[in-house]
Amino acid sequence: MALRLSVGACLLMNKEILFELSHAECAELYETQSDPKYSAGRFCVFCEFCVKNYNMRIQQKYDAFVAYFEEHMPIAESELHYKDPYQLLVAVILSAQCTDKRVNMTTPALFQRFPKVQDMAASSADEIYSYIKSISYPNNKAKNLLGMAQTLVRDFNGLVPSNLDDLQKLPGVGRKTANVMMAVAFNQPAMPVDTHVFRVSNRIGLTKNSKNVLETEKTLVAHLPQEVISKAHHWLILHGRYVCLARKPKCEECGITTICDFYQKKQKQQQ
Ligand code: SF4
Repeated sequence: MALRLSVGACLLMNKEILFELSHAECAELYETQSDPKYSAGRFCVFCEFCVKNYNMRIQQKYDAFVAYFEEHMPIAESELHYKDPYQLLVAVILSAQCTDKRVNMTTPALFQRFPKVQDMAASSADEIYSYIKSISYPNNKAKNLLGMAQTLVRDFNGLVPSNLDDLQKLPGVGRKTANVMMAVAFNQPAMPVDTHVFRVSNRIGLTKNSKNVLETEKTLVAHLPQEVISKAHHWLILHGRYVCLARKPKCEECGITTICDFYQKKQKQQQ
């Protein structure tokens, strides 16, 4: 059934249009838009069918994504080695622009020298540096670790806070690190977005051309069931690290080709 769009009716497309589209064509147009807002007011009044259809398909994609990883990766955890929130926080700060493997090689000696946050707070940036010099950006990270430890001792009684705002008051802790702490240390429904989460969710089509990591975080949190949000963060990271590689994704080894926009587009182009 053809659907007539009148001049200027479709605000989402942000241009005047006057032509006929089938529901399928119309839905495809919506899919190419970045950041579709699901408010009916932004869509052409004649396209309610397509809006509902689009929303339904996005939710089906999320459902399929969760079902696949629940079955194939029921246990998904951080690859960093740690024993308590203090150790995890140190490891996460060190892991910025560095591999988890390298961090795990460095932290045993560091934690042996500084078993408690008070020990690190009483140290110096130079001494911390001597333990982490094989890691990327050791100067900055040593200063941040010292500042983080001193702030924890001074303002938080030596305990890592379990809320996003207080975590972000600590030197070296941005929104992503704070979200990692919320998800991993405190088992809260938080979605830290790193380069893997950003890339993989966009390729699959869980997000649509997100402009920044905050947009990706909000879209994923809005669509994923609360109880799997923190686990889904590990799914996306591990999938990005071992299968959906940045330069050359291993699509031939991937189990979610049927729901992946990137793969489906590539197949269409090859036909
Ligand atoms: S099909 Fe390819 S691009 Fe899509 S998620 Fe899998 S590896 Fe990544």
